[in-house]
Amino acid sequence: MPNFLNALKNLYVNDLEFKQQVLDPKSASFCAAKWYNATIWLGSGQTTSCHHPPAHAIDVEEIKTRPSAIHNTVEKKIDRLNMQLGNRPRGCEYCWKIEDMGRNAVSDRVYKSRIYPIEALNEAYQKPHQEDVNLRTLEIAFDRTCQFACSYCNPAFSSTWVRDIQRNGPYEHLVSDGRGHFTHAHDTSQLYRFGETNPYVEAFFKWWETDLHKTLQELRITGGEPLMSAETWRLIDWFKTNQGRSKTY
Ligand code: SF4
Repeated sequence: MPNFLNALKNLYVNDLEFKQQVLDPKSASFCAAKWYNATIWLGSGQTTSCHHPPAHAIDVEEIKTRPSAIHNTVEKKIDRLNMQLGNRPRGCEYCWKIEDMGRNAVSDRVYKSRIYPIEALNEAYQKPHQEDVNLRTLEIAFDRTCQFACSYCNPAFSSTWVRDIQRNGPYEHLVSDGRGHFTHAHDTSQLYRFGETNPYVEAFFKWWETDLHKTLQELRITGGEPLMSAETWRLIDWFKTNQGRSKTY
């Protein structure tokens, strides 16, 4: 089918039709988010695809020679292969539970795939799973620096919460803290101290300069409070001195 007809089909079918006509012929578990969408926490050196699967570690040795490995981890590549074969990656349990409710159930894998052009979906499906992919959608956290300690947050995402725990000790007997968020300072969420070189951050900027700025369409910076991170301003400086080079919004 010519490309423009494919594009029209993508625009005008409803979600269930999109699943049946575009995703299912590829495989029963294909989801483009595994290729084009990522959340990356550079402070802890972790990543995931969409927000549903649990975070996993980025290999700090691998990113020294291949910065794109901050997204293209071995775990994601195995998940991509499984999706090409129609197997269900375990981390995507959220979507499988929805789809097991009935043949017409539409999960997030539909919404997170149909935002991309049909050509991009075909390319992802046909690409050898060992090959790296450049992102189109990225949520990134440079570090956990933050001036607030909101009650719904915790030390993993706020340096003010960390300081509170360090000064006052862990909270005890909190009935609302089943996951132990306030019982320790979450040191593994910030592997490198202020002023130290963080290899995950350096890998991001290397990948950004060579490739990522050409393909990334949507960028969300989170934290901590992103405007308190020097790396956010480093990225803003890049946009300032490289006007027109990136289509990222
Ligand atoms: S299948 Fe679902 S959980 Fe897995 S990456 Fe896609 S949208 Fe996220």
